Amino acid sequence: MLEEIEQGYPTKRHPATEATHAGEIAERRGSYPVAQPIYQTTVYGFKSLEDLEKVNEHPADGWFYYRYESPNSAAFDHAMAALEGAEAATTAGSGMGAIFAALSGALKAGDHIIADEKIYGGTFSLLVDQLPKFGIETTFVDVTDELAVRAARRPTSRILYFETITNPLLHVTDLEGLARLARDLELLSFVDATFSTPVICRPVEWGIDIVMHATTKYIGGHSDALGGIVAGRQELVAAAKLAGKLMGLTQSPFDAWLNVRSLKTLPVRMAAHSKNAQILAEWLEKQPAVRRVLYPGLASHPQHALARKYMPDGQFGGMLSFELDGGRPAVSKFIRSLHDIPLVPSLADVTTTISYPTSTSHRMLSPSQRLAVGVTDDLLRLSVGIEQVEDLIEDIEQALHELHR
Ligand code: PLP
Repeated sequence: MLEEIEQGYPTKRHPATEATHAGEIAERRGSYPVAQPIYQTTVYGFKSLEDLEKVNEHPADGWFYYRYESPNSAAFDHAMAALEGAEAATTAGSGMGAIFAALSGALKAGDHIIADEKIYGGTFSLLVDQLPKFGIETTFVDVTDELAVRAARRPTSRILYFETITNPLLHVTDLEGLARLARDLELLSFVDATFSTPVICRPVEWGIDIVMHATTKYIGGHSDALGGIVAGRQELVAAAKLAGKLMGLTQSPFDAWLNVRSLKTLPVRMAAHSKNAQILAEWLEKQPAVRRVLYPGLASHPQHALARKYMPDGQFGGMLSFELDGGRPAVSKFIRSLHDIPLVPSLADVTTTISYPTSTSHRMLSPSQRLAVGVTDDLLRLSVGIEQVEDLIEDIEQALHELHR
């Protein structure tokens, strides 16, 4: 039948039938696609009930239904587990999906989380507004304060939750110390490593149980694919995968394909992001209009020593934050004056973008909650891209001059 179709019309099949088989001959014997094809099919067919049962019993031997897994999402799982040095990994449709899948897989009603008070605003809101509906409570503490973590421990506590580099204050976490503290308190350690990526820092090597990423950010890297990943201990990843499957947190084959494609350039992109961010941070520190610069690669950063320990290649990522005097009016004028750096409520693109956490990542927090975690009205977050750095400096310099006109 294949030969028949390869020869084109006429075939024995009615055009109505033929149309439904369009594109079936994607591969020819003897050669194979070098890049993985996109498997844009929701479901897989079986030749017999026995074949279907075989895949039911051994899911790793076949494909079933795209909500469960696709060849593209499985390829991304494999690549991410290898990059993280983790036993296993599983994708989700977004960073929030990955965090929710990881937490749902590990927790049950009545359980308790101890989380760092400086985490991403979306995760903060998930823990405060959504998880209590499922009977899961969270206590927020400064995880650098060991006594505070110990004091927050309840008999029902299960997870110690934090980020490698926090969003947007760029606080660097002591991974080895927190992994040890979690074990001591019989808690699982969960870290969101979106800002560092496995190229810069691999938390599993420091004893962390579960690593999560919004792959929407650096791993995708081009603002064109949404996604998340959960990597770490086999049984925890399997539980997250099952939760994600039943909650429909699937990553689409196309997004997974884009993410796998992007992984190939992640190391060179992270090197370029880090180099530009270091130069920009050092330059910004010298500008009189800039009150404070937060970047782990700066000697002035409060956890610079920790940053050097956990990011030993001297790459500290592309995210930096800084404060201008003059609150929202000054921030607004500065953003309007930038020519080439757009205001974008996301991060980690190859193009430099700027964001205002008060209106974006931390919008869901009340003003007092924002202030408590250090997100002031003067704070801007710069996601430094891979452009020629002199062009970035020129644009920022002229926008800073505008502040005084
Ligand atoms: N984790 C961090 C650190 C983030 O910055 C974000 C989004 O900005 C997320 C998780 C959520 O990712 P997503 O938007 O893909 O759901």
